[in-house]
Amino acid sequence: MVDTSKVIECPCGVILEGKGDDAVVVKAQEHAREVHEMELTSEQALAMARPA
Ligand SMILES: [Zn+2]
Repeated sequence: MVDTSKVIECPCGVILEGKGDDAVVVKAQEHAREVHEMELTSEQALAMARPA
């Protein structure tokens, strides 16, 4: 697991940033749950992640 910053850009335009894959995946899952009322799998979140 790499420990570099990753970002996930949500289709709604929100940029989620975290230190490492795990952190950004958790942020994306929380955002999806709170804002979009949908469950994002870690696989789905990781597929959207890119280096910051
Ligand atoms: Zn969103």
